[in-house]
Amino acid sequence: MTDLQNSMANRIDQIRSTLPDRVRLIAVSKTVGSERIREAYRAGIRDFGESRIPESLQKQEELKDLTDITWHLIGHLQSNKAKKAIANFPWIHSVDSLKLAQQLNELAENLETKPKICLQVKIVPDPQKFGWSVPELLNDLPVLDRCDRLDIQGLMCIPPLGLNSEQTYEVFQQTAELADKIKQQDWSNLQMHHLSMGMSADYPLAIQAGATLIRLGTTLFGQRNP
Ligand SMILES: *Cc1c(COP(=O)(O)O)cnc(C)c1O
Repeated sequence: MTDLQNSMANRIDQIRSTLPDRVRLIAVSKTVGSERIREAYRAGIRDFGESRIPESLQKQEELKDLTDITWHLIGHLQSNKAKKAIANFPWIHSVDSLKLAQQLNELAENLETKPKICLQVKIVPDPQKFGWSVPELLNDLPVLDRCDRLDIQGLMCIPPLGLNSEQTYEVFQQTAELADKIKQQDWSNLQMHHLSMGMSADYPLAIQAGATLIRLGTTLFGQRNP
C-alpha cells in the first residue's frame, strides 16, 4: 500500500471513529477519479456523493463491480437531467424547488422507482444557492406531501459562506427545528428522519445540531482540482 492510500484509509477510520451511530458518512467524490473512489471503498465507504450527472455516470460505469455502493446526488439538478438522476441515484439530496419535486415525482411513477430525497432549504437568504426559504417550504408542504412517488426523507442545508461557527451552528440548529416542526404536523407521505448537513469545514457543528447525513469531500480526498 502506498503512503497516500494508507493516509486516506487512516483519515476515513479516524473520522468514522468520532461519528455517533446515527450519522451516515457520505464521501463526496466529485472530481475524484474512480481509482481513489475504489480506495475509499476498500477503507469501508459505501456512500458516495456526486454533483454532476455526466461525470458521475462515467464513474458509476467504471465502478459497477462494486454493487453495494449507494450513490447520492448532492448538486443542483437541471430539469433536462432529471430522468438520468432518477434512474441512477437512489438518493437525491438537492431537491430545491416544488417544480423539480413534481417533475421527479412524475418520472418516478413512470420508471416505477421511489427515490429517497431531501428538501434543500435556505434558513437565511442566500442568493448564491438554490433551495426553499422557510416560508416557501411551509407553504409547499401540502403539495409535496401528495408527491407520493417520492420517499421524502428530510431536509438538506448548506450554510452561506462567511459565517462564523456560532452562526453556522445556528443555521444547523434552525434546520433541525424546522424538521421537528414539520414532523409534528401530521403528513401522510412526508417523513423527517434525516438531516443532510455538514461538510468538511463544519460537520462537527452539524452533528451537534442533529445531522444524520454528513457530506465530506476535501477532508477525505484532499483538495479538489477544479
Ligand atoms: C462539494 C460539496 C460537499 C463537500 O464539500 P467539502 O468541503 O469538500 O467537504 C458537500 N456538499 C455539497 C452540496 C457539495 O457540493
